[in-house]
Amino acid sequence: MSELRKDPTQGQWVLVRPPQAVSEWGEECPYCPGNEPLTPPEIAAYRKEGSAPNSPGWEVRVVPELDPHFRVEWELVREGVGMYDKITPRGASELIIESPSHDDSLASMREEQLERVLWMYADRIKDLKRDTQIRDVLVTRQHRTPDGQITHPRSQLTAIPIIFDDVRRELQECRVYYQYKKRCVFCDVVHQEVAAEERVVRLTQFFVVLVPYAARAPLETWILPRQHHCAFEASSPEALSDLSRLLSGYFRALARGFGDPPFEMVLHTVPNLASKLFREEWATVADDYHWHLEIIVQPRRLNRVGGIFINELAPQEAARQLRRARV
Ligand SMILES: [Zn+2]
Ligand SMILES: [Zn+2]
Repeated sequence: MSELRKDPTQGQWVLVRPPQAVSEWGEECPYCPGNEPLTPPEIAAYRKEGSAPNSPGWEVRVVPELDPHFRVEWELVREGVGMYDKITPRGASELIIESPSHDDSLASMREEQLERVLWMYADRIKDLKRDTQIRDVLVTRQHRTPDGQITHPRSQLTAIPIIFDDVRRELQECRVYYQYKKRCVFCDVVHQEVAAEERVVRLTQFFVVLVPYAARAPLETWILPRQHHCAFEASSPEALSDLSRLLSGYFRALARGFGDPPFEMVLHTVPNLASKLFREEWATVADDYHWHLEIIVQPRRLNRVGGIFINELAPQEAARQLRRARV
């Protein structure tokens, strides 16, 4: 049986689970149209009119992971084991299949298709947040994962009964900043960076693309809404359309100008406000937290010592290179 255990000395959660089953797909890609019976039944799909669930005719399709880390069927149990804490990993591990075409990538995909993918992110987050036992939802998109894996373009969505460790640290910092200054730290970042320009890669009507001041890796990029909002899933159609254009340009430039490197994109949105453990929780989060996307290029080459990242490319120089590649 899987369980989430907390290391009380680090405040860090670890999923302890039986070894993951090795999936034997053979030659067939389970995510290509026509192979729908190879995946578990679909959770959601955008389909052309008249096409039946679990058959071809979809544009974006969501299925559960075959051997998920988190499952919705599991009962949520929080338990103390002497001084320790554990929780059953009730939640969801879903795959968002981004395109029917096997060789598509975020760089080659048409903008309208990328926009559909963003809509699906929002739809799935909204749906999962109706479940009050789900505390946090994270969407990640990896490009060019290690060998041996199926390359069909897809994003991963993970919903869990706790707050992700990275997100919790960010939420804490945002709250503390807000307590002192009564301002959102990300709004302040947007204002300062847009005024200074040196780390700004691109500005659109709704977003700023920048290399963060303390980038953890060369070419780390953040995409921030210029208007304050804590929840990605509440974005307007105009904003999502702007974002799909911007991302399309970014991934094309990355593929063209930097040799199509591996990258990981993570969507940081507000935790589930309907899931409160105590009354005062999330009291200021709507004002102090600001949703955004973080992209790390070459995530496997992250260099750190004792938790401190070492970055050998100055962020302002990285921004210059990205601007030159016409992101
Ligand atoms: Zn495929
Ligand atoms: Zn803000």
